[in-house]
Amino acid sequence: MRLNVNKLLHTPDARQDVRFEMDLSDLEFGGSYPVSRPVVVDCRLENKAGLLLCGMTLTTTLHCTCDRCGEEYDADKTVRYDCVLAEERASDESDDIIVLDNDEVDVEELARDAFILDMDTKFLCSEDCKGLCSGCGANLNREACRCKKAVDPRLAKLAQLLQNDE
Ligand SMILES: [Zn+2]
Ligand SMILES: [Zn+2]
Repeated sequence: MRLNVNKLLHTPDARQDVRFEMDLSDLEFGGSYPVSRPVVVDCRLENKAGLLLCGMTLTTTLHCTCDRCGEEYDADKTVRYDCVLAEERASDESDDIIVLDNDEVDVEELARDAFILDMDTKFLCSEDCKGLCSGCGANLNREACRCKKAVDPRLAKLAQLLQNDE
């Protein structure tokens, strides 16, 4: 979505709000495609003291697969991104200065890049997810391990005796 900001650039205190949705369902992170729902972008362009500031908030709900236990879960995601739009690159280089192309800026491209930069590559259903047992595959968040404990043969004999006793 390209916007021409010529007027904003040259009008003190001018302001423009833009709201749009992006489809980022084709983005792969850690082998899955978690951005299954639209990403809503609230973008504000504002001329402040001769600088054209661009601030945006991106929100969506991700559909993730936990890297530890394999369960699917939803997670709210919010990304905040701010930059300055300028007609030419200033001598003091800063990462957050975006140089305009014929007074135009592609806010969707900025939003997409900001979202990708902010994405995690690891997904956990919870901080303390216990994962799956490597032996029996039980989801240890929900069920107990079903692995039979390896028993010392001498103790096995004893266990048998005790069992027969019951
Ligand atoms: Zn998990
Ligand atoms: Zn187990």
